[in-house]
Amino acid sequence: MSGKTAIWIKDPLAILADNAERGVVVQDGRIAELVPRGGTPATPGTAVFDAGAHVVIPGLINTHHHFYQTLTRALPAALDRELFPWLKALYPVWARLTPQALELAVTAAMAELLLSGCTTTTDHHYVFPPGLEDAIDIEVAVARRLGIRAVLTRGSMNLSQRDGGLPPDSVVQDEDTILADSKRLVDRHHQRGDDAMVQIALAPCSPFSVTTSLMQSTAELAAQLEVRLHTHLAETEDENRYCNELYGCRPLDYLENCGWLGERTWLAHGVHFNESEIARLGRARTAVTHCPCSNQVLASGGCPVCEMEENDVTVGLGVDGSASNDASNLMQEVRAAFLFQRHRYGIDKVSHRDALRWATKGSAACLGRPALGEIRPRNMADLALFKLDELRFSGHGDPIAALVLCGAHRADRVMVGGQWVVEDSRIPGLDIDDLIRRHSAAAKRMHNEAS
Ligand SMILES: [Zn+2]
Repeated sequence: MSGKTAIWIKDPLAILADNAERGVVVQDGRIAELVPRGGTPATPGTAVFDAGAHVVIPGLINTHHHFYQTLTRALPAALDRELFPWLKALYPVWARLTPQALELAVTAAMAELLLSGCTTTTDHHYVFPPGLEDAIDIEVAVARRLGIRAVLTRGSMNLSQRDGGLPPDSVVQDEDTILADSKRLVDRHHQRGDDAMVQIALAPCSPFSVTTSLMQSTAELAAQLEVRLHTHLAETEDENRYCNELYGCRPLDYLENCGWLGERTWLAHGVHFNESEIARLGRARTAVTHCPCSNQVLASGGCPVCEMEENDVTVGLGVDGSASNDASNLMQEVRAAFLFQRHRYGIDKVSHRDALRWATKGSAACLGRPALGEIRPRNMADLALFKLDELRFSGHGDPIAALVLCGAHRADRVMVGGQWVVEDSRIPGLDIDDLIRRHSAAAKRMHNEAS
């Protein structure tokens, strides 16, 4: 399909948009119009894609991940451990990361995401052992090859065990190197505007792996370069204790002291905020990514999404890294978020539509991308199309509810900026069997070398 040709995604089985019962017209990478019940497109000369077997939703948006961790899924040394001991078990393995292994890990994670209906993903890469200085450039190249929209964060760690931090000396960098590379990456790769395919954000790993000076200078650089800020915060009670011991305050106070509490920032997890902190987040317009699978695997607790939304805190969804999820399936994460929060808050407060909203409109707002996450005119044509012909859907009523309740996990088609990037549950040009072979071999090498 050429970029100029308008295409009518016609008569879907169901669509997550108002007044679009007969589908949507896509042109020049955007939603050109919605076609209401009884209507036909006003756009002339549209090609037709028959969506009679498809449920159409806005492309899902993943706002927290660590792609390299696909190489350390279900690692025996890290099983059944809480966050801090889990990290200590994994750092020595991650220190073995090579450019070749990272390229395979990024391809695996992005492919998993695309096949699950994800059209925009972030990554938080903060491990830079010697030889892996081009980690983010590698990620940019894979995103461009696969056609997924990406907000890649330049992560960092400069507080190692030598200085009282958690990571080993071999995976940290110094502040000057980190800031210079952050600027280089923004200058080289960051695109602006609704249709940006690659963006860069700045993302020190967490308060327990970087210095105060780096937190502050990163916030200043992000303001100067007009890019977003991201980090982990309030994931566990251990973190609260650590922050109190080291800095004499709670993580959110520390964040504010470092100049981070504002609308440029989105935070991963946000599990252990108290009432007044949630109100402060809302006033500051700082957003939070909910990561339900990771929080459950590590027994960290869960993000108080309802209190957050009542206080005008934007909530998005993320799968988190594959060492704590251990999948990169965003549609399954929607179901996990629905089940987890329904259980927590009850029938009246959380529906399957809320979980879908967090993964679309909410996630788009986390990234400051208002032209993503909703099917409406002028928005980017980022769509996920699911078929309901598997056994798990047999006998369903409401097709949108069925996606979440019956456990949809594989999109049939995915469109990013008007281009099909998944067709018949396949990524054109990507040999998945070959990828699995090479990715598994790279993972095995890392596990063996570290043991
Ligand atoms: Zn994370």
